[in-house]
Amino acid sequence: MLKIMHRIIEMTGKYKWRIRSSYITAFLKGVMMKIPLVLCFLCISRFMRGKMDTTGCIVFGVIALASVLLEAVFEHISNVLQSATGYMVFADMRLRLGDHLRKLPMGYFTEGNIGKVSSVLATDMIFIEENCMGVMSELVTFIISQALMTGMMFVMDIRLGLLSLLIVSVFILIGNLMLKTTLKHSVIKQEDCESLTEEVLDFAEGIGIIKSYNMLGERSGKLRDEFEKSCRESIDFEVAYGPWARALYLTFGIGTALMLALCAFLFKTGRISDEYMVGMALFLFDMFVSIKSYYGQMARLTVTDASLNRIEEVFNAEELKDDGQQKFDTAGSGSGTAEIVYDNVSFAYTDKEVLKNVSFEVKQGEMTALVGPSGGGKSTIASLLARFWDIKNGRILIKGKNIKEVPLGSLMDQISMVFQRIYLFQDTVYNNIAIGRPDATRAEVENAAKKARCYDFIMQLPNGFDTVIGEGGASLSGGEQQRISIARCILKDAPIVVLDEATASVDADNERAIQEAISELCRDKTLLVIAHRLKTIKDADQILVVSDGKITERGDHSSLMEQNGMYAHMVSLQAS
Ligand code: ADP
Repeated sequence: MLKIMHRIIEMTGKYKWRIRSSYITAFLKGVMMKIPLVLCFLCISRFMRGKMDTTGCIVFGVIALASVLLEAVFEHISNVLQSATGYMVFADMRLRLGDHLRKLPMGYFTEGNIGKVSSVLATDMIFIEENCMGVMSELVTFIISQALMTGMMFVMDIRLGLLSLLIVSVFILIGNLMLKTTLKHSVIKQEDCESLTEEVLDFAEGIGIIKSYNMLGERSGKLRDEFEKSCRESIDFEVAYGPWARALYLTFGIGTALMLALCAFLFKTGRISDEYMVGMALFLFDMFVSIKSYYGQMARLTVTDASLNRIEEVFNAEELKDDGQQKFDTAGSGSGTAEIVYDNVSFAYTDKEVLKNVSFEVKQGEMTALVGPSGGGKSTIASLLARFWDIKNGRILIKGKNIKEVPLGSLMDQISMVFQRIYLFQDTVYNNIAIGRPDATRAEVENAAKKARCYDFIMQLPNGFDTVIGEGGASLSGGEQQRISIARCILKDAPIVVLDEATASVDADNERAIQEAISELCRDKTLLVIAHRLKTIKDADQILVVSDGKITERGDHSSLMEQNGMYAHMVSLQAS
């Protein structure tokens, strides 16, 4: 327990002092709780000895009242200190986590960690925030109360003290076994929760596809399996936990009965006086309450330990190094000079190398197109430019600077990316465009929208630029979403544009509008285009054929046609 408490205190960082102070108030509350009981005993004892007078009654009454009031005051201070700390700590921690996630390589998110991140944010953090701080002060109170009760038994009679110590030891033994069970199952339960979250997210995101392919039964079957697994584990947990909880209650009953029996025996054999016997009857029913409640709360604290492990796991994921100090030359590299250089780049997502010794240059203001069979490595080449993943072998230079040696922020300032898969946030149209450059004026945002050919349809929305669009852009057509994402890039006005040929799945009207928007975006920019339809890149300054992780052909359209290789073959295939 001390280990978990220490962990929680460490987690509270700059709010440590609040937690430590709350332990003092929790300690004082524990002492205050027992004072009325002791007073009762003293009172009865005096009555029995005929030594109680009016003044004594008043004094006892005042002390009892004061202790009850102080107990309430200490409890309040302790609660305020601890609960507020929970909310403050987790507000900070969520921001830190957001910052950390921002710096993780994209690989982290594609390797099945979305469920983990979601459940850390939605389950673990909320659980600790709402449960653990209050639990901590209660635990301190319980420990103090139990120590005082056991101490009191020793004061009354050493045999009673020894028996109560023995019963407390049995409690500790059973309680610890119960905690072990809780910990084991809470780890499994949480793993289930992660995969369930992952499955629910997958189902919700893919609901359109699932419906259109009539896979509702199949996919919801998978989801149902996850629910059933989670349900089974919850039942297993109760089955495993239940007997220990019952044993704890049984020990409580048996312990109280044993204490009572010993008391009666000692009284009968004249070893304790009648006033002590009455005092014992008073204490007995409060004797093991603290330790019983302690283990009830400890189960929650154990779950906290497992939750902390998972939070740490996410925080321990290795961030992309961002300690580069070099700066890009603001004047640019100059027309005709190499803006982007891939120098012998090899890369593997996992074990299998997907890029092998890729080298090429893109000159400033020119367009380079990546073409080739699906799975060849085109998207990988493009995403390495923005350091979505880091390469182990080779170098990528922008304006002569190794992208690992400049701050990530300034690297991102150099690049605009238009993906095939667009994401619009559940926010106003205005804010979705303004992400491109948060300090832009309203006129600049509207101007970007005009250039991206989306001004007209935005003005037809119920609240124009202030219309809130659904999550992922749900309330707009694919082409409209695409144009908003292009407006974002136009507003950003980065010198390099990476374009995953974006018009694959829209109608003819939209396609024309998107092509116009893209032309606006690409004006005077250095372009790296992943092309699927070859007619759009006929005029590219350089075409690279990427196949099986290598550049197999390079040149402009006419020289590649002359070579009569894979490119020429692809062109004739598409033409026919
Ligand atoms: P292209 O864009 O030419 O279709 P990609 O760059 O998408 O090709 O893929 C190249 C190879 O890398 C493929 O074998 C693909 O399966 C693999 N790959 C792509 N993305 C990932 C990823 N996130 N994790 C693991 N492997 C990936």
